[in-house]
Amino acid sequence: MKLAFAYIRRSSYKQQKNNSVEIQKQHIQEFAKRNNLFVPVELIFIEDVTSAYSKRAAQRKQLMKMAEKMVEMNIPTVIFHDISRMDRTGYSFTIDFYRPMLEKLPELEVYTTDSNKPLDPEDTSIKMNFLLFQHESEVKSERAVGNLTTFLENNETFRPGSKTPYGYNQIKKQKHQQQLEPNENADIVSFIFFLSTWGKSLQKIATILNEAEIPSPKGGIWRSSTVENILKNPVYTGKLIWDVHKRKDDGQKQFIFEESHQPIINRFHLQLIKQNNHLQKTFGRIDTPFLFLNKVKCRHCDQPLSTQNGSTKRNGVKYDYHYYVCKSCGYKVGIKEVHNRFIPIILNRVKESISTIQIKPKTLAFINEMSIEVEQNVDAKQKLLQKLEEKLKISRDLKDRELELKISEFIQQHKNSLKEYTICQENLKTTYQLVEKDQFFSRFNEILDHQLGPDEKRLIILYFVDYLILSTDKEPQLHFKSNIFSNLID
Ligand SMILES: [Zn+2]
Repeated sequence: MKLAFAYIRRSSYKQQKNNSVEIQKQHIQEFAKRNNLFVPVELIFIEDVTSAYSKRAAQRKQLMKMAEKMVEMNIPTVIFHDISRMDRTGYSFTIDFYRPMLEKLPELEVYTTDSNKPLDPEDTSIKMNFLLFQHESEVKSERAVGNLTTFLENNETFRPGSKTPYGYNQIKKQKHQQQLEPNENADIVSFIFFLSTWGKSLQKIATILNEAEIPSPKGGIWRSSTVENILKNPVYTGKLIWDVHKRKDDGQKQFIFEESHQPIINRFHLQLIKQNNHLQKTFGRIDTPFLFLNKVKCRHCDQPLSTQNGSTKRNGVKYDYHYYVCKSCGYKVGIKEVHNRFIPIILNRVKESISTIQIKPKTLAFINEMSIEVEQNVDAKQKLLQKLEEKLKISRDLKDRELELKISEFIQQHKNSLKEYTICQENLKTTYQLVEKDQFFSRFNEILDHQLGPDEKRLIILYFVDYLILSTDKEPQLHFKSNIFSNLID
């Protein structure tokens, strides 16, 4: 029979009756018997728990004493009466007890009285189940959930079982905690985000990095997917995200730890990239020779001009024939003619307008108006959803299955659009701060004195130009947008 240690908590209040030391001892002895273990009285450690519920495992004297004894006697087996109640998170148990013990006693087996299998706190899902257990049973209120995450943040989170992201080193801190710290590649990460804020495509960013002979994270060449993975990883804003599957229902719970480590990029960069993606979705690629794609109209037919690419190669020389064409009336104009004439006008106008003092308050006022509009939509949607829920209830009472399904479908649709509005609200909020903190217009000021590439020109057109209207017989009209962010809510 194997020798084992045991650990019991003695609480000074409540639960005394059904969770007394005697009862816990009895449970442990029964468990030991079932599992062929022997727990002598002198190997049972009893911790007095007063208000120390939130104390970390390392601060628990008896626990640390027991750990010492286990190493000294080389007995790697221990039974806990109830591990989920070890501390507020169950988490410090892993950091302060399990991991250091495992290094000293590789055979370590930790049991709880409710399972015949030893525990593996290194398993992320088990670790998160600790959290969820607390989350569900003891930390009912929102405030308490807030405390839980604050607690975790204060105690420095680490990334269980995941690869170290490019641009960071995993630094071992004392007591087996780990933290991400930016390394020499952080500048490259920040450069990638910068390029993306100016509308550079994934492929172009990869090309730029390869031309600069910067090795990829794996030491080879950069591909668009390598760049995409970096741009999509929220870790660079200092956020740590754990997706956790709940045990009972199949819903997924996301734990987000803000400011868990030093960020490499700021959130405004993310917002700018989001906006670029949104503009591309609405008006087509940024990376195109047709800088006025979906931004130039035929005056006669009042519709956007199409593009025509008649480029050919003769004797190894490439001849570009790019046109804007009206499909209705056949009006056709070469892109160079349009670009050479209008782009200098646009750049001058943008430079002028962003250096006026009014641009900031004016733009902020616009964003405010948009926010109010979205908020009203959210209110209306919520009222509608409430009504639909009532109708759903009625349909159930009537046992009208068909009606019930129909209403459920409506509810789902409206819930989806409500979600979109919420995302929109967030975007507007960040955009407001972007402008307010001079992170938006100043960017253009910085680049306008330089020679711009086609991507930057196209991005400027997408942001600042409403429409260019062309026709055969009348003077062209160039319309600037009054609200640069007007596309954000359509
Ligand atoms: Zn036309």
